[in-house]
Amino acid sequence: MAAVTERPTLIRGGIVLPMEGDRVAHDPGSVLMTGETIAAVGAVVEVDAHPAAAAAEVIDAAGCAVIPGLHNGHLHSGLLRGTAESMALWEWLQNHVDPAHRALTPEIAEAASYMAYAEGLRGGTTSVLDMWRFMEGSARAAEEIGIRATLAPYTADRYDWFETLETNRRLLESHHGAADGRVRIWVGLEHMFYCSPEMCRAAAELAAEFDTGLHTHSSESIWEVQECLRQFGRRPVEEFYNRGVLGERTVVAHGVWLDDREVSLMAETGTALVHCPCSNMKLASGPARIGYYRSQGVTVGLGTDGEKENNNLDMLEEMKFASLLAKVAALDPVVGDPWDVLDMATRSGAAALGLGDATGTLTAGKDADVVTVDLSGLHFVPVLHGRDFNAPAHLVFTASARDVSDVWVRGRRLVAAGRVVSVDVSAVAARAQAAAEELFERRAALAPI
Ligand SMILES: [Zn+2]
Repeated sequence: MAAVTERPTLIRGGIVLPMEGDRVAHDPGSVLMTGETIAAVGAVVEVDAHPAAAAAEVIDAAGCAVIPGLHNGHLHSGLLRGTAESMALWEWLQNHVDPAHRALTPEIAEAASYMAYAEGLRGGTTSVLDMWRFMEGSARAAEEIGIRATLAPYTADRYDWFETLETNRRLLESHHGAADGRVRIWVGLEHMFYCSPEMCRAAAELAAEFDTGLHTHSSESIWEVQECLRQFGRRPVEEFYNRGVLGERTVVAHGVWLDDREVSLMAETGTALVHCPCSNMKLASGPARIGYYRSQGVTVGLGTDGEKENNNLDMLEEMKFASLLAKVAALDPVVGDPWDVLDMATRSGAAALGLGDATGTLTAGKDADVVTVDLSGLHFVPVLHGRDFNAPAHLVFTASARDVSDVWVRGRRLVAAGRVVSVDVSAVAARAQAAAEELFERRAALAPI
């Protein structure tokens, strides 16, 4: 990969939404990057006056929105896209997803991560929290592609085709902090019913031992809540609390069906939540009360979930789903405000992942994780300024991954004019296609269990 250029870069004259402060916009504004860091953000004339601006390479951002990199707080690398659609959850898991886990190999898993990270990056995602398997390959993919990756293996002790806390520990030892800290290893826990209470406690201890994060799913469906009550006499988040899993290092995906006491537990323990509206609609899980959770002090990020639940990794599209699902669930068009949704994908998303000091906003001194979105397409007309300013609404309701123009992570330009430049995307796609075909052959050949 090309080294960070010594020359500063000035992204000049765009609609800059730094996503800090109260709905601040610099229009027209600029972002100046020196090395891996943001040196200045503000109005064009202000940033032009910075001592490093004169020697900078200038990127003309006229007609573009300039935003912080997006954080996809819950995804699974995978190759099941577009298969096994419109099925009951249990049938889908038992007959399609779990057999694919049994058929997975390290090579196939690595090809899936290359695809997922390249796809996400192309759409403005600069950081992912991926729950997957054989994640040495995921670390390689993230390192080469240039994206930030937080890797949380699927671990379980009630089925033998997942990772274990022992393999999670080995991954922590070998890869935590790789790529100058861009790759972080967390402890992952597959679904509560896949993991014994003892294992959950041991997972929390492992995360504490390495001073790292912990990621799991919870309260995705009503069935899960009822089953948890039946098996353990507690709701899922209460049960996780009881198992010592909640806390500031923990991020829970979904949390659709939290009651008020569970929301309090999340807030009191500092446990973050990642909302996956597309997946929650597609699997008919239901609408999470995100506005309420946030009002109670829970940090909420946004995630696409996997290719099998979405079916893409487009965080701009996910923002639209987040807003629309909030509106239809509340039967209230006032909720799901674009600024709030943008916050979940950027500032709060970074905070949920424990990256708030490094990234999530366009702030001088933070890492230069910057995205430009080209608003010149017909579908963005009209772009208005001043009194009728409408860029936040365009980003949430109109934009999709294909409108992303340029992406920098830590000052490295990884997407230029809509093309990923850090890897050969056609080779990534061809490899993933072959890996998927092999996976389906292997799955078809499995003996039933
Ligand atoms: Zn998931």
